[in-house]
Amino acid sequence: MTDRNQLLFDRAKAVIPGGVNSPVRAFKAVGGTPRFITRAEGPCFWDANGRRYIDYIGSWGPMILGHGHPEVVEAVQAAVRDGFSFGAPTEREIELAEEIIRLLPSLEMVRLVSSGTEAGMSAIRLARGATGRPKIIKFEGCYHGHADALLVKAGSGLATFGHPTSAGVPPEVVQHTLVLEYNNVEQLEAAFAEHGPQIAALMIEPIAGNMNFVRASVPFMRRCRELCTQHGALLVFDEVMTGFRVALGGAQSLYARLIPGFEPDMTVMGKVIGGGMPLAAFGGKRAVMEQLAPLGPVYQAGTLSGNPVATACGLATLRVIQRPGFFEQLAARTRALVEGLKAEADRAGVPFSADSEGGMFGFFFLPELPQNYAQVMASDAPRFNRFFHGMLERGVYFAPALYEAGFVSAAHSDAEIEATLQAARAVLAAL
Ligand SMILES: *Cc1c(COP(=O)(O)O)cnc(C)c1O
Repeated sequence: MTDRNQLLFDRAKAVIPGGVNSPVRAFKAVGGTPRFITRAEGPCFWDANGRRYIDYIGSWGPMILGHGHPEVVEAVQAAVRDGFSFGAPTEREIELAEEIIRLLPSLEMVRLVSSGTEAGMSAIRLARGATGRPKIIKFEGCYHGHADALLVKAGSGLATFGHPTSAGVPPEVVQHTLVLEYNNVEQLEAAFAEHGPQIAALMIEPIAGNMNFVRASVPFMRRCRELCTQHGALLVFDEVMTGFRVALGGAQSLYARLIPGFEPDMTVMGKVIGGGMPLAAFGGKRAVMEQLAPLGPVYQAGTLSGNPVATACGLATLRVIQRPGFFEQLAARTRALVEGLKAEADRAGVPFSADSEGGMFGFFFLPELPQNYAQVMASDAPRFNRFFHGMLERGVYFAPALYEAGFVSAAHSDAEIEATLQAARAVLAAL
């Protein structure tokens, strides 16, 4: 049989660098041929060979309702008929902004953009503009999009400035980016002690989904909040992945439950708020947000920002996830998946740990859940890769890299979870 995925991959490689428009899609970490997707429905998608897969990436998070939810499709179709893009304001942008602010009480204003990268980059510029300070803190293993200042890995030693992780980023561009170890309170305190008056913002993924799935501990998060307040820095939550995914009120609602009065100063959003369309946002308190053009001196703009079709898709998605019981059911399905995987790994005698929150999960070929990037990277990569390919052969599509989170949608039923666990039993037994 001809492998249409391989034919398409070869053709793609001739005209698109690496054959893909975002690196992880190329399967470089796990090897093998990427699947070219032809269509999707509910919890599944189909590749160019006509093979069906249970989809646990959901476009890396946005597809929280599953693919082709009828209410979302209808909203998008209606929006398309009224026009694709105007470059002038629309009522739907207000509706989406109002909806986001209603769901995230830490926000008073939001600005809509088209990608998480744009949102994170703009949030940093705004934080620097609003505070008049140059430096930002980020954590190793957190991803905030590919803006130059954020493509940084840790330098050697405590509280030193980082090195670019990408060619094309001059060291001077990241000289104000301080990279610290996630969940390390001592490093955090040392960084503020040394650079406090210079720090504009601390940016963090509250549940880090770009090093698989690692929670910021409550004491660590409490210290982040205290030190930002004490030193006049803005605490910026990157909830591009966790927002409207781990809970209706995002990860910040989970910390607010555990730390009295807790809220971030700014929030960066994407993925679920676009429901699969290019849409992202950043928001915060009025005094900070009013520093943005056209009101204030911090410039930010976008030809397609607040796009009418994307906002229709996002609004329809946000309306469905607010229905009673939505997150309880999604969380229960996701928990059933990770607990089932853990039970199958135990049965097979394979060291394994797993965690989930709402519709987001992670699993590791490690006996204990990791707390930082170095621990995540110590997991058994060859074993993960064998597991990944074994599952793929059995029609289950997990993220093709061990440092990526997974996602369950509302369209995943007990039947898909059960089928996944049966496949996992066979694959784990052979590991
Ligand atoms: C996906 C992601 C981004 C980047 O969003 P894009 O839309 O891919 O630019 C930023 N931050 C986090 C936490 C993400 O998961």
